[in-house]
Amino acid sequence: MINTPELDKIIEICEKSNYLSNGCIEPIIYKGVYRDNNNYPLITFKGRSWRLHRFFASQHFEEFDDNDPNQIVMHLCDNPACINVEHLKLGTQLENIQDRDNKGRHPNSLKTHCIRGHILSGTNLIINNGNRNCKICKYASAKRRYSTAKRRRYYERYPRW
Ligand SMILES: [Zn+2]
Ligand SMILES: [Zn+2]
Repeated sequence: MINTPELDKIIEICEKSNYLSNGCIEPIIYKGVYRDNNNYPLITFKGRSWRLHRFFASQHFEEFDDNDPNQIVMHLCDNPACINVEHLKLGTQLENIQDRDNKGRHPNSLKTHCIRGHILSGTNLIINNGNRNCKICKYASAKRRYSTAKRRRYYERYPRW
C-alpha cells in the first residue's frame, strides 16, 4: 500500500488536474510530476517511476499485476495523459493483437469514428461503463425517444375514435 506522503501527493495531483468536459482527467506537470517521451505523466514512488495512469489502475483494478509483462492498461479515451480510471481498461497484449486481427486495422475499443461517421474523440466522446459512445448520436436518439413519447401523450389525450 502507499504511505501518507505518497497519498498526499496523489490527492494533490487530483486537485491540480484539469477536468475536461468528456470526463478525461489530465494531471498538470509540476513539481514531482514529469512527462515521458510518449506523453504519459510520470511520478516517482517507492524508488521507481510510475506512469500515473498505471498507478491509478493499480489502485482501482484488483486484477492489476505490475509484474505481468503481458498485461497492459489501455486508454479507452485515446488520451495518454488521462488518469480517470473509468477511461482505463486492463487488457493483454494477446487480446490486443487478436482484436486487431479480428476487426481489421484497430481494436474495437479504439474505434476512431462511430457507425455514422462522427469522430470519437474530444468532447464528442462519451465513456460509459467502459464503452466509447458518440455524443451526437446519443443526443439524436434521446431526441427521437422524446418525440415518440410526445406523440404517444398526444394520442392518449386525443384518442382517435
Ligand atoms: Zn480520458
Ligand atoms: Zn455518431
